[in-house]
Order: sequence, then C-alpha cells, then structure tokens
Amino acid sequence: MRVTKSLCPECRKVIKAEIFEDSEGKIRIRKTCDIHGVFEDIYWSDAELYKKFEKYWYDGGGISEPNTPLNGNCPYNCGICKDHKTTTILANIDVTNRCNQRCPICFANAASAGYVYEPTIEQIKDMLIGLRNQKPVPCPAVQFAGGEPTVRENIVEIVQAASDIGFPHIQIATNGIKLAKSVELCKKLRGAGLKTVYLQFDGVTEKPYIIARGHNALPLKLKAIENCRAAGLASIALVPTVVKGVNDDQLGDIIRFAAKNNDVVKGINFQPVSFAGRIDKTERERMRITIPDVLHLVEEQTGGEIAASDFYPVPFIIPISHFVTSEKNEPYAEFSVHPHCGAGTYIYIENGKMIPITRFIDVEGLLEFVNELAVGIERKKYIKSFEKLAAIGKLIKGISRFVDPDLAPSQVNVRKLFIDVLKDGTNEATKEFHRNTLFLGIMHFQDMYNIDLERIQRCGIHYATPDGRIIPFCTYNTLHREEVERKFAQPLKDQ
Ligand code: SF4
Ligand code: SF4
Repeated sequence: MRVTKSLCPECRKVIKAEIFEDSEGKIRIRKTCDIHGVFEDIYWSDAELYKKFEKYWYDGGGISEPNTPLNGNCPYNCGICKDHKTTTILANIDVTNRCNQRCPICFANAASAGYVYEPTIEQIKDMLIGLRNQKPVPCPAVQFAGGEPTVRENIVEIVQAASDIGFPHIQIATNGIKLAKSVELCKKLRGAGLKTVYLQFDGVTEKPYIIARGHNALPLKLKAIENCRAAGLASIALVPTVVKGVNDDQLGDIIRFAAKNNDVVKGINFQPVSFAGRIDKTERERMRITIPDVLHLVEEQTGGEIAASDFYPVPFIIPISHFVTSEKNEPYAEFSVHPHCGAGTYIYIENGKMIPITRFIDVEGLLEFVNELAVGIERKKYIKSFEKLAAIGKLIKGISRFVDPDLAPSQVNVRKLFIDVLKDGTNEATKEFHRNTLFLGIMHFQDMYNIDLERIQRCGIHYATPDGRIIPFCTYNTLHREEVERKFAQPLKDQ
C-alpha cells in the first residue's frame, strides 16, 4: 500500500489517499473527505503491471530557478515551484479556446466557456522565451493547442516564433479540419518549422466520431493525413481518446492503420478518457479504462504481435538522458515522470509485420549497462575527452550483447542507430531513430476521482500561461484552466 495525497472531487480540498491492491488483483485509490465522504476508484487495473512499472520510479531534480516560492499549498501553488520534480519536457500553449468542432467530450472550448481566451502574439513569445530560459534544461518541445489552434489566423506566425526562439521540437494538437481543407496551410506550417501534427484520431470507422465528435470526421482525418504527406509534413502522431464501448475495440485496427501509413504516421498516443464533472461510482467503474486495460486490449487485438510486456513506463529511458548528459557535460531533459502516468514502446514494421523493439533487444539489460557507463563518467567530474571516447568505445563494444541480430528487422542497423542516439543525443540522431519506427504511447490524464499528487509533482507535460506561470497538465485541466482563462478572457460577443 502507498499513501499519497489527492483531492476531494466535491470541495477540491487536499485529502489523504491510499493506493492498494484489492482481492481481484487491481490497484485502487481510496480517499475520505471529512465533509463529502469516501471516494474509491480503480487506479490501475493490473497489479502485476503496476509493480513492474513501479520499479522505474525516479525523482528528478526539477527546475533550478522556480517561478513561485514554496508555500506548502500544492497543487494550488503552481508554479513551477521548488517541490516539483520534473522539468518541462513538453510545454502546451493554448493559443485559443475557439474551435471549429463541438465535441461532446471536450473540456476546452469557447462556446461552452462563454468567453474567448486568445493570448496575443507578444504574450505567446514571452511564454516561449520563458520556457527556453528554464534551467538547468531549456524546455525542448512546445505544443500549440486549444480549442483548435489552426482557427487562429496567425498560427503560421506563432509556429515561426517558436522556431525563431529556438525550439528544437514544435507540434500542434489539432482536429485536422483546416489541414484537410488546405495543403497550402500544411506547407506553410512546415515552412515555419512545425515538426509534428498531433492529430485527434478516434478510430478507423465512422462510429467513434459520431459518438465522440458529433459527426463522421473520418474522411477529413484521412484527407488531413494525405495533405500532410503532400506537404512533406512527415511526422503525424495519431491521438485516440479511448472510451469504453466507443472505440476500445479498434485499438489493433488503429495500430495497423498507422503501420500502413508509417511513411508519415510516426506514433500513436492512446489517451484513456478522463472524467470531467461529477460521475457516480457505478458509472465510473463501468466507464473507467486504465493503462493496463489499453495494453491488454492492444495485445488481444494484435493477436499478440504487440504484447503488454513490450511496454515500459516513461522514466525507463532515464539512463539515456544520463549518458548523454554525462558524455556531453550539459544537462539533457530527464524523463522523470511518474511511472504510472504513461507507457510506451517502439515497433519496427517489416513486410507488413510489426516487430516491437523489445523482441530483439534486451532493453532492460541494455539500459542498465548504459546507466552504469553514465554513472562511471559522472563520477569523474573533470573527465578528459579521451576518457569519454573510451566510454563510447565500451558502449559500441558492449551494445552487441543486448541485440539479437537474427530477430532484428533487416532494413535498419539497429546497433548503429542506438549508438548515434546515445553518443550524440542530438535531434538528428533521435529523428533518424524515429524515421524507422512507430512509437506507441499511452498517457492517462487524471481527473478529480483518481488524481494522485505524487503523479502531479512529477509531471513533465506542462502548460505555460500569460502571467508567466507553468502548470502541470493534469491540474491545469482540473483546477486552474478556468481561472487562467478568465483572467485573460475577452467577451464572446466581441468575436
Ligand atoms: S504541482 Fe508542482 S509546481 Fe504545482 S504546487 Fe505542486 S509541486 Fe509546485
Ligand atoms: S500530464 Fe498528467 S498523466 Fe501526463 S505526466 Fe503529467 S500528471 Fe502524468
């Protein structure tokens, strides 16, 4: 059992919570508010996987020059404050809350809010500069979101600003409507420095769109993908919100669709739905879908081609950050997100077959080995360049032990790719790795019922706000969004 802090879903007060295994092998969260009583929910539906992931728990050092002083009032003191343990790995900037779709499951749009939130280009630039000035690691990636970011008339200018300010990675989270309508827009965005299109994509038939989005959006998703391809925007991540009874039977088909379109689709990020507003316990138990559920469904629906055991938590790759940091003597983002926030794996596609990277690389052994090398370099604080070369030499020699060439796909030199990423750590080497693989990720955003402040304090997906604050994604959407937006809102009638 683990004791943590959570929030009362009724009064939002911070309350103690217990996370424990029940008699059915599920992990549950239980909390009691003095006034509103007991709340219980499923936290992770598979205790064995929970324990496997827990082994990778790692606390990072956070941001060294926090924006807000400590006052013991987490999660109402964001931030980022000194208690936060992860730097900003991906920053979200909402550029508008207007949208050209009315989704029944959406939490952020102008029509339901009754006001327009649209930071000016100067405010956006200030947020971008603040993010790049973060220490010890400048924020490496920004996502423009909303609402629907492409309804901002100056979205290309906004993307260009992020490029000019030096962001290595820029993406937009979009429903794809505008991209489907204009290949020209895709080209302009690419020209301005857009790297990835984070495309809302709920399935490969019309059903999930009709239920979740209110209309059959599938044809326009396909058109958006085609237009990105034509524009040379060759990095699309499909983003299905996974809802029980709506699209949880399509996960395998979505993966096969991505594999077929791997020339431009480089990843899928499944997002189990989180609950907005009040929902009773029976309904929650019926609707709740957690990371292990998604992993097991993927295994079932791909006939075991991709298994739950192929996935690892986000902090699993920390040894890579440490190796690159030690080797280059400059800090590299640490993926010290809580181990129960997300899961991921990479797959190669060869002759229509999907081969998870874990099938031909002993990833656990390899990362342990990389970690040992990183620690070895770090101990020698003033390491000389020939010693670094020796470490790289060791890496090159040692890596073969962990790769089974007979099982590896033939089209790529896996060993070389790994060495480039580790030795170099640059965007180029990582890009080359991503060019040949399909990333499968899952992130389960929290709601007021399953929120765990230990996860929040380790969050690396943040929002930047016009008043210079940085707020973890899951508390922005549950606690802070309305207050921030109202502070900078314009009345809806003026638009
Ligand atoms: S969520 Fe993070 S930044 Fe916000 S108050 Fe808590 S520790 Fe500080
Ligand atoms: S956004 Fe939510 S689920 Fe993702 S890392 Fe942050 S706290 Fe965890």
